[in-house]
Amino acid sequence: MQSESGTSVRVRFAPSPTGYPHLGNIRTALFNWLFARHHDGKFILRIEDTDITRKVEGAVEVILDSLQWLGLDWDEGPYFQSQRLAIYRETVHKLLKEGHAYLCYCSPERLETMRHEQAKQKQPPKYDRHCRDLAQEERTRLESSGATPVVRFRTPLEGETTFHDLVYGLVTFRHDTLDDFVLLKSDGYPTYHLANVIDDHVMTISHVLRAEEWLSSTPRHVLLYQALNWQAPQFGHLPMILGPDRAKLSKRHGSTNINEYQKEGYLPDAMVNFLALLGWSLDDRTEVLSREELIKQFSLERVGKTAAVFNKDKLEWMNGFYLRKLNLGEYVQQAMPFLNRDLPGFVKRPLDEAYVGEVLSLIKERAKTLAEIPQLASFFFLDEIQYDPGLLLGKKLDAQAAAKAITVASRQLQEVEIWDATTLEGNVRPLAGELNLGTGELFGLLRIVVTGRTAAPPLFQTIAVLGKKKCLERFDAALRLLPA
Ligand code: GLU
Repeated sequence: MQSESGTSVRVRFAPSPTGYPHLGNIRTALFNWLFARHHDGKFILRIEDTDITRKVEGAVEVILDSLQWLGLDWDEGPYFQSQRLAIYRETVHKLLKEGHAYLCYCSPERLETMRHEQAKQKQPPKYDRHCRDLAQEERTRLESSGATPVVRFRTPLEGETTFHDLVYGLVTFRHDTLDDFVLLKSDGYPTYHLANVIDDHVMTISHVLRAEEWLSSTPRHVLLYQALNWQAPQFGHLPMILGPDRAKLSKRHGSTNINEYQKEGYLPDAMVNFLALLGWSLDDRTEVLSREELIKQFSLERVGKTAAVFNKDKLEWMNGFYLRKLNLGEYVQQAMPFLNRDLPGFVKRPLDEAYVGEVLSLIKERAKTLAEIPQLASFFFLDEIQYDPGLLLGKKLDAQAAAKAITVASRQLQEVEIWDATTLEGNVRPLAGELNLGTGELFGLLRIVVTGRTAAPPLFQTIAVLGKKKCLERFDAALRLLPA
């Protein structure tokens, strides 16, 4: 398919494995994916792993897992830049040969002193172009001294670079604000700028959609494309994501790594819907959009320039909404790993799926995340429940009255043959009058007896699911707990 500009859409997600992917990274991946799917184009995955000093073990796997978890499938890749060094070096030679780049022999110590001086003079840190026009004999001297050079781009000293950003419109940078940035480092690895431009060209990327923080790198990239006589892709920078306090989103606003949301029990569909609204909107009103609707509706025209604000409450609300939409079978499948992970080890595994289904049908309305389920449901799975015996007492319920009520109710329940909520309620409700207790008080007491909690799902449904044997054991246990 062709985009509005007439080229076929090829976009890429190009993370650096310098840490686990955070919300902002994945929002970038999602916008690229939506754009590709909307235009029937290609979504390419490229790992930008040329900064070997900042590489984090395991990060690539987490990036791939996160994309898979969210259903952001890629059509090509993953390509690894670290396996493509020859392509970058070849291009650097061309740039050197044509005078667009030069060798710089400055030692790290010299650069450090220079930066220090600049800081003292309150000047922005910028390479002073010491090696830009070295005389031949000086170069020969440096070379024979064994200094390993880096390769720098020969940025034009005057003029400016303007490009059209699909989100920010016309953007202009004066060349005197740019420096002669490094293309190839002394370890032989390319910098981000070089590898990124070469790969976007070689991989025939049509649109570069990336976070706003890269906007200031783009004039350098445009200059590189010009020097190489390549046509630049179209650029679109995505607005920043801020925390509720309007500071850049960080750890202190809650989890920022996407895999933590998976562990906390968010659903991929909820996450995708939520992330899509961080910087894009359909109409400023619509909050719930399915994956299909997002693909259909997504457009760069509706990506905003203003920073998006991350709202955890909204995410929770959205997750609760998507959870409630699951049918029971799907719910069981989603919840099972969380129950297995978080229920105490002594609860017998494998858990019985049919029983889990009955339990979940009672608590599914109350969970905002799947990780809440083991806690909400634990009393259904334990042989013995722990609670403060004081909870068995109440206004009209001293130990004696409570013991009597528990004994009477237990006896009544033993007689019940059809163990369903309606029959159970029909049998137990009349006991309140006989015991001279309010219905609320009696039911409150029984709730503690069978669940150990003051807040739990509807009482008789709970008793029905727990089953006769377990319930009667809990009545006996409660009697033992009461003070004599
Ligand atoms: N490797 C860069 C990153 O980690 C990619 C930026 C870009 O998309 O150009 O975000």
